[in-house]
Formats: sequence, C-alpha cells, structure tokens
Amino acid sequence: MSTPRPVCLITGASAGIGAACAELAARRGYDLLLTYRRDATGAAAVRAKAEAAGARVVLVQADVAEPADIDRIFATLDADFGRIDALVNNAGAIDTIARLTDMDHARLTRIFAVNVIGAMLVAKAAVQRMEAQGSGGNIVNISSAAARLGSGGQFVDYAATKGAIDTFTKGLSDEVAPNGIRVNAVRPGIIKTDIHGKAGAAERVDELGPMTPMRRSGSAAEVAASVLYLMSDDASYVTGTFLDVTGGR
Ligand code: NDP
Repeated sequence: MSTPRPVCLITGASAGIGAACAELAARRGYDLLLTYRRDATGAAAVRAKAEAAGARVVLVQADVAEPADIDRIFATLDADFGRIDALVNNAGAIDTIARLTDMDHARLTRIFAVNVIGAMLVAKAAVQRMEAQGSGGNIVNISSAAARLGSGGQFVDYAATKGAIDTFTKGLSDEVAPNGIRVNAVRPGIIKTDIHGKAGAAERVDELGPMTPMRRSGSAAEVAASVLYLMSDDASYVTGTFLDVTGGR
C-alpha cells in the first residue's frame, strides 16, 4: 500500500507567496487545503497547477480576521482530509503608506486582526489537531523583514504585526517542541508580488530591489523554497528560528 500524502494548509494561497508555496508543496508531495479571501479566479488557477503536479486540492474562501471563517477552514479540513501535517501561515495584508499620526483605530484593529490574531487562531487550530494526531507537524509563519526594520514613515502598523509574529513564533515553538511540532518563520524582504500595489506603491519593488545588497527584488518562488526547506526533514533540528529571504537587506 502506498503511504498517504501529507496534508498542508496554506492560508492566502490565491496569489503571491502563498500561491508559490502551494505549487512547490504539490510538487514535493503534499495534498493541499488552500484558502483565499476574494480572488476566486486566482485560487482556481493555483488549484489547477497544484493538481497538475499530483496534489489533491480543496479550496476554502475565508477571511482570517473572522473566527467563524477559521472554524469553517478547519471543519473542511477535518471532513475532507481528516489530518494536518503542515501549516503555512501566510495570509497577510498591508494598508496604504502613512505615518502613525494618520493611522486610526479602525486601521490598527483590522491589521492586527488579520496579521496577528488571525494567524494565531489558525495556528491554534492546527496545533490542536497535530497534538491529537501525535505524529508531530510543521508550522511556518510568514513574517517580514519589516519586523526588524520597523518600516518608519511607511507602515509601522504592519511592521509591528510582523514583530508580533516573530515573538509568537519563538513562544509557540517552545510550547510545542516536546510534541514534535516545529514552528519557524520566514522573513521575506522585497518580493515581487501584488501586495505592493495593494498598498498603493506598486513601484516599491523596482525602487527598493536594486538597493538591497544583492541589487534585486526576490521572487515568490524563492520564498517558497525556504518555506518548504523549513517544512522538510532537512530542517529536522530547526525550530523557533527566522529565515531571512531578503537578498541581504
Ligand atoms: P499578496 O497580496 O500577493 O497575497 C496575499 C494573500 O493573502 C492573498 O491570497 C489574499 O487573498 C490573502 N489575504 C489577504 N487578506 C486576507 C484575509 N484577511 N484573510 C484571508 N486571506 C487574506 O501578498 P504576498 O504574497 O506578497 O504576501 C504573503 C505574505 O507575505 C503576507 O503575510 C505578507 O505580509 C508577507 N510578506 C510579503 C512581502 C513582499 O514583499 N511581497 C515581504 C514580506 C512579507 P485574496 O487575494 O483572495 O483576497
């Protein structure tokens, strides 16, 4: 009998880094539960590529800022796959460039709800299942170089959410390490995805990429390769750490 494929949940897989992780994870032998918020067309395209690579794929529309949506993600996971081996906690958002003095309560509440509370609740539900399964597991949180750099004058709110993700990565990794669950973070730098356009600064990639030590922006595929490394047995003694994918920035 063949060994069943491991199951990976990737949030925010309709575009960018999440989509690249889905495509690579499919090629590395995972079945996938992929979530998206609005971009059903993008999600369907990612599903088609992952299926062509041999994965079984289920899509769930979900806003990670809504606890009921997170419950729906995991109800689907339980019903369709009955297990979870890996989580890429990727869904994330950024608001437009602003100084702190121009950020209101609604903006701060929303970005922390998506980038921090959403990610923590998704990880919680994954850990509950991984611990019940008793066979370990892997979580990779998608942080950002902004956690180190602070993003002053641009998005200190976003940077602060990623700082929280780094602290959460360390704390959760200590909490679950005795149960064989590894928790790490990847901190991308300037990566060519649509997130910059969503922040009203599509030109950011071409402006800032050449200013990095490697003199270029990175690709979503380069981030995905690091995520899949951390999930792999090649990283079997790696937990609670941060892998910067920044071209040296
Ligand atoms: P994209 O904007 O290309 O993709 C973001 C993904 O997250 C989409 O699938 C989007 O879904 C989903 N998403 C956004 N908000 C929510 C939400 N509230 N609930 C559920 N899903 C949501 O961004 P990237 O691929 O660039 O970013 C992915 C991660 O990488 C984020 O955590 C980001 O902070 C981080 N990152 C990115 C960097 C970069 O330079 N690109 C640098 C450092 C970190 P949909 O489109 O369907 O609404």
